[in-house]
Amino acid sequence: MAEEDFQNDRDVIDNAQGVLAGDGFSEFETIKEKMTPGNPSPGYTFALHCVQCSAHNAVAVSWIELVDVAAGAVPVDPDSGHRWIFHDKKATPPIRCGQCQKQLFLYMTPDQCQRYVRSGIQAGALDPNYVGQRTQLIRQQAGAYRR
Ligand SMILES: [Zn+2]
Repeated sequence: MAEEDFQNDRDVIDNAQGVLAGDGFSEFETIKEKMTPGNPSPGYTFALHCVQCSAHNAVAVSWIELVDVAAGAVPVDPDSGHRWIFHDKKATPPIRCGQCQKQLFLYMTPDQCQRYVRSGIQAGALDPNYVGQRTQLIRQQAGAYRR
């Protein structure tokens, strides 16, 4: 990788942390969220602009990933098989800008994802039994790691 590229990557990360400092990205006004259309809805879609090239990106996040973050686990992107990036109690999916291919930062907190999960259950898109079972499994695994 050329030194210039490395510098750019570092700038992107610094910018993202500055903008996204705080509780999730809720105060970051250029990111918009909505339940993904569908019957049942497959998850949430987030619209954000790339900090590198300003291109508009729409990022779909599945219920299973939102349930995992809500339960304190680091999910795997079902499309790419790549693990989410976890940083400072926030997680971002391993996604790249559709135009310039730079990493996009869509940091989410467990509290925020619990809110999405609740809204999915209320909308009938997510089975509360599934959420309960998966959350229990994640907590059991977390407990096993600590032993
Ligand atoms: Zn870009």
